[in-house]
Amino acid sequence: MLKVEDLTVRVGGREILKGVSLEVGEGEIVALLGPNGSGKSTLLHTIMGRPGYDLVSGRILLNGRDITDLSPYERARLGIGMVMQLPPALKGVKLRELLKRLSSVYGVDSEHLRKLSEELRASNLLDRDLHRGFSGGEMKRVELLLLAAQSPKLALLDEPDSGVDLESLPLLGRTINEIVGASDNRAREKRSAIIVTHVGKILNHIRPVNRAYVMLDGRISCFGNPRDLIEDIERYGFDECLRCLKVI
Ligand code: ADP
Ligand code: MG
Repeated sequence: MLKVEDLTVRVGGREILKGVSLEVGEGEIVALLGPNGSGKSTLLHTIMGRPGYDLVSGRILLNGRDITDLSPYERARLGIGMVMQLPPALKGVKLRELLKRLSSVYGVDSEHLRKLSEELRASNLLDRDLHRGFSGGEMKRVELLLLAAQSPKLALLDEPDSGVDLESLPLLGRTINEIVGASDNRAREKRSAIIVTHVGKILNHIRPVNRAYVMLDGRISCFGNPRDLIEDIERYGFDECLRCLKVI
């Protein structure tokens, strides 16, 4: 589904990603772990094609097609959707209107979205300016609702569990499972996702994750079984990842 090859990326004149490669197969969910500032969000923004993330080298392939030079809009139309860690507030953009447009562009049933907005306790936010004055939890729930309206083949989820109270995690987990669900009636295709999580809390609430990658200082330092990696990180912290690297 997605192949990221040796990405080196500069942001604001600084090299943030230093040769990142990873793969996400069709139907796979992978977790991306790593301390603050290691480059996780930068990687997702680069995959989405956000301006300001300057590619020094490397390429991004979606189902074998090189999408490195495509605009975010074109990538979205090919099936990539993203939940931002800190989505911008958009004055004058109403959630209701945006949902309507997305559901018509991406052919998602509006009744399904109405139900989902109730489930996600977002009905009272429909006529407000998007993310303006939203609480952390409201932002995350609305971002998932917007992602559902895109019905993406590849979902990029940047810390969907940060700033969210523990009671909301099962609800967010259920919604992510639905978005990344095993199959879709229209296309009968498997969905894939990259989930960035600082502490891994959300992973207890979604369907099994195939692989976890650890990112340190702009590089993928290792990958493996998510449960084992998270257990080690919880016990020893990311410092141990650094030591582990030095041993290698
Ligand atoms: P993570 O998501 O792993 O916490 P980020 O990808 O957000 O990390 O950031 C990685 C590094 O890139 C940080 O040191 C951050 O300060 C830097 N960075 C991110 N955006 C910019 C920018 N627009 N200008 C300069 N540096 C940036
Ligand atoms: Mg981040």
